[in-house]
Amino acid sequence: MSRKPHVRKRYWNEPVMGWWERAYLPEILRGLAITGGVFVRNMLKWMTGRKGALTTYYPEETRWDYAAGNRGKHVLTRRPDGSPQCIACNMCATVCPAKVIEIEAAFDPSDSAHPKYPVRFEIDYSRCVFCGLCVEACPEDAIRMAKEVPDLPADDRWTMWLGKSELLDWQPQADVAKPYPPRARTGDGA
Ligand code: SF4
Ligand code: SF4
Repeated sequence: MSRKPHVRKRYWNEPVMGWWERAYLPEILRGLAITGGVFVRNMLKWMTGRKGALTTYYPEETRWDYAAGNRGKHVLTRRPDGSPQCIACNMCATVCPAKVIEIEAAFDPSDSAHPKYPVRFEIDYSRCVFCGLCVEACPEDAIRMAKEVPDLPADDRWTMWLGKSELLDWQPQADVAKPYPPRARTGDGA
């Protein structure tokens, strides 16, 4: 059985090309002229110390106006007594699609409420895809993603491997809805 010849689908908003566009080369040259003009203009501004392109001049400039819902650097939350809220259940590491979370658990029989805790909690940011699944999976609200990404980019992948103290001690801007660290409950009759 012979196959039907392929007929390309036509879209309702497909632009109609005139003879000028169909000639190809003039439009290619026009595109190059626009791109080159913007490049030269921005380069001249940069050479004379003025701001040209709307992009951030990293690392001289650092952005802080991230969207409120931006998934940036992780922070490990603490209990009011300062101990990590994490119970080393490993759910975040299990769900992580990039397998970049490493947790080593320890057991403290004297803490009957939270006997398991992490002695080592590391994230390899050189491979993290900032999907937020670790935050979603955590049953303890022990890991969050703040909107900022301070000092994360690096030219050495080993400096992008952050440990427990760096994730615990980092103090991102206050989250009004979910204060960090949580306020100690007082006078609730408990
Ligand atoms: S944001 Fe995604 S990739 Fe990064 S540590 Fe969490 S689960 Fe893994
Ligand atoms: S951060 Fe949350 S999900 Fe990950 S090990 Fe700790 S308690 Fe479990």
